[in-house]
Amino acid sequence: MDQTLNLEKLKAKLEAEKILLQEELSGIAHQNPKNPKDWEATPTETGETDFNDETADRLEDFEERQAETIPLEKRLANVERALVHIADGTYGKCEICQGPIEMARLEANPEARTCRQHLDQETAR
Ligand SMILES: [Zn+2]
Repeated sequence: MDQTLNLEKLKAKLEAEKILLQEELSGIAHQNPKNPKDWEATPTETGETDFNDETADRLEDFEERQAETIPLEKRLANVERALVHIADGTYGKCEICQGPIEMARLEANPEARTCRQHLDQETAR
């Protein structure tokens, strides 16, 4: 079985995804200056103190942004981790069993951290 991965191709994919995710995140959140991996949802507007319908809408907006930020932030962290693994030569190994991750899975999802069998055991970062 040939498990040779087209690393250059996957790396290019990951880098493109990283830029996309960062762009998407910048639209709804900002990086914590003390921890660049930590993204915080940006309030739609600030300076308004009167609580009216508009404020309620903005609060709702903010909550939506927070809900959207979390999965994007997680994907970005996985993409960055995959790029680190490519650089140090440990890319494509399942984090649970250390076995090779299926090539088809990596092609579809280059930031995958586990093989198909251990899909639901992916650890939180
Ligand atoms: Zn596994």
